[in-house]
Amino acid sequence: MNTFNKTVLAVHAHPDDTESFCAGTLALLKARGFKIVIATMTPGGMGSISENEKEMAGIRREEARKAAEILDAEYYCLEQRDGYVFDNTDARVKVTSLIRKVHAGIVFTHLPFDYHSDHRATCSIVEAATMLAVLKNVPTDEPPSAIMPLLYHTEPFGYTDTLGRPVPDPSFFVDITDTFEKKITMLSFHESQKRLMKHMFGIDDFFKDMRENDKKIGEIAGVTYAEAFWQHLGAGFYQDPLIQETLKEYRR
Ligand SMILES: [Zn+2]
Repeated sequence: MNTFNKTVLAVHAHPDDTESFCAGTLALLKARGFKIVIATMTPGGMGSISENEKEMAGIRREEARKAAEILDAEYYCLEQRDGYVFDNTDARVKVTSLIRKVHAGIVFTHLPFDYHSDHRATCSIVEAATMLAVLKNVPTDEPPSAIMPLLYHTEPFGYTDTLGRPVPDPSFFVDITDTFEKKITMLSFHESQKRLMKHMFGIDDFFKDMRENDKKIGEIAGVTYAEAFWQHLGAGFYQDPLIQETLKEYRR
């Protein structure tokens, strides 16, 4: 097994994505001595019914920062535009710079076949940035990473792919029954999204969908609540099962 720094960097598209798709697992890793860093590609400026994009971005950066505090996690926003995330040089350099800055040993991001186009673009950016992190010619203020981080993909909402079909089996599930309430606490900081869901879909219980999502995955895994992970095992990436071994008592 290679040695990876015990810092997990979760990079997702919008504020509340990390909380929704992997916070139960991050809480378990935090309790096992890992440092957690949360980043969003965008400040989520479009998720509003009354505020303008700039006002909404300010509100949601703050909600994300407060949610991250529950895990003593640093929070970064990479300031791409909500709804318009593209894989380009600037975005890749920003993610590479952050991987180097926080000395990430493990990176979490969306699935390549996620339902949301911002999520898929984020996945493409993060995958490329992870590989680029060790190359000295990539122009960042920070020196290159000593070793390419391990890369894992997190679950899509609804557990279906881009076209609404069932997703292929994950590398493993994590039983998050013990940390599910902490995940809900983190999500509860996203007040603005509770208002949006009520306005758009008449949803009074913002957390009901998340409960049902993690329950559905839990049923497949044979536990109450679970999160699913796909380790990125493509050519050029390390395949050490670090998260699987660290969480072996919770792995299904
Ligand atoms: Zn999102």
